[in-house]
Amino acid sequence: SAAPTSIDRDRLATLFAAERARFAEQHPASRALHEQAGGALLSGVPMNWMTRWPGDFPLFARAAQGSHVTDVDGRDYTDFCLGDTGAMTGHAPAPTLAAIAEQSARGLTLMLPTEQAAPAGEELARRFGLPLWQFTLSASDANRFVLRLARQLTGRPKVLVFNHCYHGSVDETVARLGDDGLTVEPRHGNIGPAVDPAQTTRVVEFNDLAALERELAAGDVAAVLAEPALTNIGIVLPDPGYHDELRRLTRAHGTLLVIDETHTLCCGPGGATAAWGLEPDVVTIGKPIAGGIPTGAYGLTAAVAERVLAGTVWDAADVGGVGGTLAGNPLQLAAVRATLEQVLTDDAYAHMVAMAERFTAGVQETIDSAGLDWHVTRLGCRVEYMFGARPARSGGEAAAAFDAELDAYLHLHMLNRDVLMTPFHMMALMCPATSVADVDRHTAAFAEAVAALTG
Ligand code: PMP
Repeated sequence: SAAPTSIDRDRLATLFAAERARFAEQHPASRALHEQAGGALLSGVPMNWMTRWPGDFPLFARAAQGSHVTDVDGRDYTDFCLGDTGAMTGHAPAPTLAAIAEQSARGLTLMLPTEQAAPAGEELARRFGLPLWQFTLSASDANRFVLRLARQLTGRPKVLVFNHCYHGSVDETVARLGDDGLTVEPRHGNIGPAVDPAQTTRVVEFNDLAALERELAAGDVAAVLAEPALTNIGIVLPDPGYHDELRRLTRAHGTLLVIDETHTLCCGPGGATAAWGLEPDVVTIGKPIAGGIPTGAYGLTAAVAERVLAGTVWDAADVGGVGGTLAGNPLQLAAVRATLEQVLTDDAYAHMVAMAERFTAGVQETIDSAGLDWHVTRLGCRVEYMFGARPARSGGEAAAAFDAELDAYLHLHMLNRDVLMTPFHMMALMCPATSVADVDRHTAAFAEAVAALTG
């Protein structure tokens, strides 16, 4: 990879080798379990992302509670990965567990609504300001179904996404901008695409209003699917006024605006939509809203809901690619209700944001005193540090600043000091149980890494 920062590469290689050895030494039980699991599981893991941790094998966890995870070697970790946001509630939150236990004894999946269903929808409506909701089994599903509905409603073939976005395993979104800045290509990692994404997708850089206007003017875009701030290529914040223009242009061109709040729920109880006063036609969400029980959801404005219900769209949807036999099951609805009403509360957010502020200050202080050309960005209770002196304004810029070797070293350094960071980049999320001691454990480990890197 390119080396945009001033870190000495030989030193980095030496340090990384030492951390690899230390990791192996500290985790004999995980190594043994991984070897054994390879007899039944592809790559020794139940899901391929779990191989993305640094080190020669993944940690095998034994238990998780609040902001902590223990592994099979008996080590205790502070968890800032939190299941890549799936556990933003903290692990095993008591109110969610109680609701799960109660509902479990009354049936898990029914193909019938229960008394929990409407309150869960009402709570989402209250938070995001969109009145009518549906539930799915994942955020990917919510995005997939919404894109289908948008094409059906508008009669237009394409969707528009941002370069280096991530919205889950959704075919149309696994696309990138070509090097000419105009054409669309399958993104690296687009496995066996059914159709060339150039046929389904327009891609522009985040914060590039001229490109957005140009692509919408083609008149064939059913929906823009947007994270309010990019969170999957580092955090990329919107320029001041960007969302106003995004809304104005989508309205002017008859394109639905879908805001994916799956990660930006870190901005507050109603995501960036509430925190920043956005006016989406549709919101999609998933990951932590049921405290770890698989759930996605999408919310519609009254106007969009009316269009969905009119004609034959909704009647046909049960065989038309909007589905999931277990979706909307009573267990997930009970978990959503308890999690939203009792775990991800306003008070919890106030604490999570305070912890994120402390985390950010600790990182900033180390960057400043070492004179590093790195920066740290906070988005509500999510924090990320990245290489390069200034925050990127687009996915393309953020990708260019990525340093795979440095990233792997820092992750492994943290893991060896009992701190879990999200495996894909240096991202940390706070949960209601995150403590000052947790944050300070990271701050000390970060300072130690920077000292080692800079000599
Ligand atoms: N939307 C966003 C913004 C995401 O970051 C992700 C997952 N990282 C998804 C959707 C998809 O979530 P899931 O994999 O749980 O379907």
